[in-house]
Amino acid sequence: MRFVLLLGLLVASGARAETLALRGATMGTTYHIKFVAEPGSIDAARLQADVEKVLAEIDRQMSTYRPDSELIRFNRAPAGEWFAVSAATAKVVAAAQAISKKTDGAMDVTVGPLVRLWHFGPPTGDDNKFVPPTDKAIAAARKRVGYQNLEVRMKPPALRKKIDDIEVDLSSIAPGYAIDRLARLMVKRGLKNFMVELGGEVRAAGRRQDGQPWRIAVERPSAGERELQSSVALDNASIATAGDYRKFFEHQGRRFSHIIDPATGRPVEHSLASVTVVADTCMAADGWDTPLLVLGPERGYECAKKHNVAAMFIWRDGKKYDVRETPAWRARVNQRQHAQ
Ligand code: FAD
Repeated sequence: MRFVLLLGLLVASGARAETLALRGATMGTTYHIKFVAEPGSIDAARLQADVEKVLAEIDRQMSTYRPDSELIRFNRAPAGEWFAVSAATAKVVAAAQAISKKTDGAMDVTVGPLVRLWHFGPPTGDDNKFVPPTDKAIAAARKRVGYQNLEVRMKPPALRKKIDDIEVDLSSIAPGYAIDRLARLMVKRGLKNFMVELGGEVRAAGRRQDGQPWRIAVERPSAGERELQSSVALDNASIATAGDYRKFFEHQGRRFSHIIDPATGRPVEHSLASVTVVADTCMAADGWDTPLLVLGPERGYECAKKHNVAAMFIWRDGKKYDVRETPAWRARVNQRQHAQ
């Protein structure tokens, strides 16, 4: 992937510290980093070069958008043999598989054939965009999906398919992992107060320059102009949202989103519009939001409650939105509501 990067910008400064910002493009989306540092203590250009290095490495390992990534090479490999991968890829796959087990397969990183069939994911050259696939095509793709057909081991790190044609798509969780890696880099550089955002998912540590916690906006899940639902104070925590309202196509009055229910082979079509998760790591927050959305307002809520996941569910009720938060969310999240 080619990165388009902008220089670090000085965005605010106080007597003893300043807030610096870095931003750039990665994974088909953008990243933004803000951090508070003593003037002159951090070489922003060097830090940005290190950020790019981390992101480029993860792209080479986990992208399904480039033909030479580690994951694409595994996807082409036959079943039966262990395929050596980086510790990073194995770690992300292992985290995803653990969530798959806890969500009855609502999280399934082998969902790639269905994602493509529904015209999401990397371009396929198929001109039939915006037309739902046939039942026959869905049934055929479903035979190639199933997290139980994928094995992962850490020592040495490797993946193995139980059947040919299984593929791995880490789009639902790898951006969160990338944020955790960038947070680790910030800590390594001696930074304690920072916020890392990539594709809408965020991890924050410490405080802003004014001593207040980093506040992250949670969007109201409407496809039109961006509106705020609430804002959440984050300190040493991560937040991620999965929604059906940004990436979708419409056909004959029906909306088809990029979140696929592996049990049906179809995009989710219930009233639940978004799920926001707060967790220690961004990989956990990003990993949980998608399956909770798949499971829907009732099963998703019960699953999050059972596994002590701090989650907020927003669903459509006619023209208004209803909100439900798990006990873990209410216990850990300092939230400010915005006017409806
Ligand atoms: P999330 O809800 O976090 O994830 C949704 C995505 O997960 C879907 O788009 C689908 O791919 C997959 N998915 C759907 N249903 C399920 C399910 N039930 N279980 C598990 N997974 C499911 N995009 C580009 O356009 N260009 C790029 O060059 C590019 N490069 C990338 C490189 C890497 C390393 C990664 C990880 C992703 C890349 N992407 C790229 C993908 C892009 O970043 C994704 O759109 C994004 O990861 C999806 O995030 P989200 O927050 O929109 O949705």
